[in-house]
Amino acid sequence: MSTSPFSAWFRCFAGCGETYRLSQVILRCQRCGGLLDVVHDEQAWRSRSPEAWRGLLQQRQLSSYPVDQSGVWAQREWVLPGLACADMVTLGEGRVPLVPMPVLGGELGAKSLYIKQCGHNPTGSFKDVGMTALVSMVQSLRRLYTIPAIACASTGDTSAALAAYAARAGIPAIVFLPADKVSDEQLVQPLANFATTCALDTDFDGCMRLAAEFCERHGVYLANSMNPLRIEGQKTLAVEICSQLGWRVPDWVIVPSGNLGHITAIGKGFKLLRAVGLAERLPRLCAAQAEAASPLYSAYRNGWTFQPVTAGPTQATAIRIGSPVNVHKAIAILKEFSGVVESASEDEITQAWLTGDRHGLYADPQTGVALAALRRLCAAGTIRPDEHVVVISTAHGLKFSGLKSAHHMRQSGDDGRAGRNPPRVIAANLNDLEAALLPQLERA
Ligand SMILES: *Cc1c(COP(=O)(O)O)cnc(C)c1O
Ligand SMILES: [Zn+2]
Repeated sequence: MSTSPFSAWFRCFAGCGETYRLSQVILRCQRCGGLLDVVHDEQAWRSRSPEAWRGLLQQRQLSSYPVDQSGVWAQREWVLPGLACADMVTLGEGRVPLVPMPVLGGELGAKSLYIKQCGHNPTGSFKDVGMTALVSMVQSLRRLYTIPAIACASTGDTSAALAAYAARAGIPAIVFLPADKVSDEQLVQPLANFATTCALDTDFDGCMRLAAEFCERHGVYLANSMNPLRIEGQKTLAVEICSQLGWRVPDWVIVPSGNLGHITAIGKGFKLLRAVGLAERLPRLCAAQAEAASPLYSAYRNGWTFQPVTAGPTQATAIRIGSPVNVHKAIAILKEFSGVVESASEDEITQAWLTGDRHGLYADPQTGVALAALRRLCAAGTIRPDEHVVVISTAHGLKFSGLKSAHHMRQSGDDGRAGRNPPRVIAANLNDLEAALLPQLERA
């Protein structure tokens, strides 16, 4: 442990208030069984001026030191302050682009639209920025305790991230996936990193229960999002967004939401900015869910009374979760941020990612859910046309190419109207090419 003036500890989120050291291997409160939260000494944060923090972040952006080149560890004092730099397991995560897309935004109803491209992370989703924090902590804990492996249940992206970061650290990884409910690309990621990959004949919630039981019995470290360490890495996204906007806070942030760790983390990041004096206000947050898996949306409509559901089939497989573990943290954050919850039908989701793709994205279906939510909120007048909106694109569309190819290749009478763009099969001579292409050039 370092002599850093900054410190953090676990605190029971369920309200019993018990605290634990970050160097303890612990997932739930030993007194009441509640979820844990990581709490920082914010007084220590405030011992530096906002200008000093901004200068430090800018200096690290230019630094050649490997941990400075990670968007997460460039913010290390705010993430896991006790961790030694030598224990930081990085694959170059974070620091992903924030892309202004005013024309796409105009089509959806909000001209000042920015897409935060989390799919640009090493394994293609934001899960990397959380997993680097968790695996780094396990790396340092392995000097104190016997930890034979790290495991997780996953809708596809957590397992890809765990497999990669565990492989980077040389720690064995075990992943539990619902058979036939993740894309082929997501299934191959943990295989490629030589994680032990178990495809179980159940849904995500079923995998989660089994993973938790297995880990508890055999001293395996559980990397799921009831583990609060991941949130500490994920919250750095809010700082990046603010910095990329020239240290301005957007009016809205829309987050595709399943287990509700990410929206909790983004909220925590904006609160951190306010605590250190780099932001004066908070944005409003929107959790976006697929209609088939929308327990939070139902809760929002019912005065925040939450009931778990059995999640139905949706193309947005990464957020097909009926019993989100972070639901109470997320509700608290949403209340604090004047948040809303929106949902989208499968057809709206398809239309939304198609619209994104037409404007140059390669949008995954979860990003489709967020874009569809934006369209609905604009139509309802909740988001005004002049407000600044950030949509979190949670994964790279290349993880979902099967979905896109099934859409574009499907035969139909009128491809244009259905938004399909199949390849044209044309004989390899100039006459046939011209016959096929010239009418199109004339129309343009
Ligand atoms: C995990 C994930 C989400 C949802 O994040 P939660 O923290 O579970 O709400 C959204 N989109 C993608 C692509 C994901 O992998
Ligand atoms: Zn407790």
